Amino acid sequence: MAPDERDDKTTMKKYVIDKGCKLCDACIWACPAKAISSDGHRASIDQAKCVHCGICLQNCPNEAISVYEEREPSKQSEVTK
Ligand code: SF4
Ligand code: SF4
Repeated sequence: MAPDERDDKTTMKKYVIDKGCKLCDACIWACPAKAISSDGHRASIDQAKCVHCGICLQNCPNEAISVYEEREPSKQSEVTK
């Protein structure tokens, strides 16, 4: 009946840090999965460790973290920033 119902079940959120990162380390300390690290230029998220809790997004003072919805491996659409 509802074609979107099946998509909802396979949707995964993907959190990504962009160029707005000021390396304040707030997300690194806040992440319960220790999935965020810094390379000296910006923080980045290890997608294999991320548990998609959204805490990093809430803690970033610079709005440098975006969340995407992944419906298919090759297709992404941004849902919020
Ligand atoms: S969504 Fe949660 S687990 Fe994933 S990087 Fe952010 S704080 Fe860590
Ligand atoms: S909280 Fe935001 S600005 Fe700070 S290190 Fe994380 S992504 Fe960068």
